Amino acid sequence: MAKFKKIGVLTSGGDAPGMNAAVRAVTRKALAEGIEVVGINGGYAGLLNGDLIPLESHSVSNIITHGGTMLYSSRCPEFATPEGMAKALATCKEQEIGAIVAIGGDGTFRGATDLANHGIPSIGIPATIDNDITATDLTIGYDTAVNTLLGMIDYLRDTCESHARCNVVEVMGRDCGLVALYAGICTGAVSIAIPEVGFDEEAAIQKIANVRDKGKRGIIVVFSEGMPQKNGRKYSEYFAEKVQEITGVETKFARVGHIIRGGGPTLRDRMTATQMGVEAVNLLLQGKSNRVMCVLENKITNEDINYALVLDRMCKGKLKDGDLDRFSADEIASMRARCAYRQAKIEKLYNMAYEICN
Ligand code: ADP
Repeated sequence: MAKFKKIGVLTSGGDAPGMNAAVRAVTRKALAEGIEVVGINGGYAGLLNGDLIPLESHSVSNIITHGGTMLYSSRCPEFATPEGMAKALATCKEQEIGAIVAIGGDGTFRGATDLANHGIPSIGIPATIDNDITATDLTIGYDTAVNTLLGMIDYLRDTCESHARCNVVEVMGRDCGLVALYAGICTGAVSIAIPEVGFDEEAAIQKIANVRDKGKRGIIVVFSEGMPQKNGRKYSEYFAEKVQEITGVETKFARVGHIIRGGGPTLRDRMTATQMGVEAVNLLLQGKSNRVMCVLENKITNEDINYALVLDRMCKGKLKDGDLDRFSADEIASMRARCAYRQAKIEKLYNMAYEICN
């Protein structure tokens, strides 16, 4: 059983709708178990500066519906230094914080694993609109962000239809194309460009010309911001110009940015955040540490953080020297299989969209 009487909860890195729902779940579950809870403001920076607020049950009232994060977020490079870690550990000791739940993306989990290695049991909860954490099928915030994006692209499609235009829409997601892929499929985009799948520019332009010849008026193309540059420019902007130049179809460009990071979370994000928050506290109570919460095949599970971080780097082609040294042959084989599975899933959806969106 756990040997602590107080846990700290923080949100760190890029914000995502549903972070509040996770903070609420962690707080309420811990209180129900007789554990005190303290909110750490502004991510790891709050741990360094001792910027803390005690959380009672009512402190998290009425936040399940709100986007953003009531604990605020920031980037804190100092936390990754030995001096920063010393300050964080001093705060934990002074304030008797015996465990941490860290809500955020992969950077946040690197911080959590450092804390765990310094004797503070820590659990990560994945929250990022990008859905770019390989160990989990779903991150908190993705569902809300893509639903918001659907509304925006639907609006553009209305006006494209009226004026017989094409609109190339660049969307967020960093180097992960899942936001673009799902939004593209579900808005009926004629073409989708994501970094995980080779983009045939000529074929895409030809497809736009073909659908216009067949009478299609409103044409949507969705581009992931993670697409590599083209001729030293954003590929999305270059492509919009090229479509107009080659096909003669009037083509506008739109970038849908941080607006999709806001707003109240969807049912799915509230539920995932709530289940993960409760389960994170359960793991700490069982004496577990250094785990990240995951959703796999619609079930809430958890994974070793180091495994999750290395799996992620493998999947993104960013393995560092020595990354695989501490893993067994079976673990490495399972990582390879999971990367292949994720890639196959993406390619299957991409090919399906290519066939029917015309
Ligand atoms: P995200 O969690 O969304 O990936 P960041 O990469 O900005 O966002 O990370 C959030 C915070 O996590 C950083 O500001 C820093 O405080 C901490 N962090 C990031 N990388 C490391 C690391 N290598 N070691 C320790 N802490 C880290």
